[in-house]
Amino acid sequence: MVSFQPEKFVTCNCCGKSILEKCAIEDDGNLLCGDCVVKSTKKEVKQVEQNAAEVRKKEYEQARREVTRKQRQRVVGIFSLCLAIFAGVQAFNYLNRPEPVKSVHVDLSENLDTVRSIIIFALDSYRRGNGGNVPATLDELIPEYLPLKLKPYFKELSYKKISDKEFVLTNDSQE
Ligand SMILES: [Zn+2]
Repeated sequence: MVSFQPEKFVTCNCCGKSILEKCAIEDDGNLLCGDCVVKSTKKEVKQVEQNAAEVRKKEYEQARREVTRKQRQRVVGIFSLCLAIFAGVQAFNYLNRPEPVKSVHVDLSENLDTVRSIIIFALDSYRRGNGGNVPATLDELIPEYLPLKLKPYFKELSYKKISDKEFVLTNDSQE
C-alpha cells in the first residue's frame, strides 16, 4: 500500500523553466530553479564586488584629493616661507642700506668764508640756547654748537663780543 504521489512541478519565476517543486528554491518570495539561483547569486556577488570597487574608488579619490590638498598646502607653505625670506632679505637690505651722503667734503683751510658762515650759524644757535646772549669766546661753542675740528680755524678769524647780545666776526685774511 504505497501511495504514489506524482511529482509536482512548478515554474521558475525567473527563466520560466518547469522544475520539480522539491528542487525549487525560494528566494525573496520567488521560486527559482537551481541555475537561476546560481546566476542571481553570481549577480549579487558581482553587485557586491562592484559596490566594493566603487567604495574603493571613492576612498581612493578622497585619499588622492587629500594628498593633493596637502601638497597644495605644502606648496602654499613653501611659497609663504619664500615670501617671508624675501621680505626678510628686503628688510635686512633696507636696514643695512648705505647711508646717503650727508656732507660734501670741503677743504676748510681753503675756504675761511665757509668756516665763518658755520661759526655764525653756531653762534646763532648758541644765542637761541642762551637767552639771546652771545659767548665770550668761540671756544664756548665747542662741542655743543661746533665740532672740535673747527677750533684750529678760530685763530684765522677775529671774534669780538661787543655786548651781551652782539658780536663781530671777521675774516682776518680779508682785512
Ligand atoms: Zn530558472
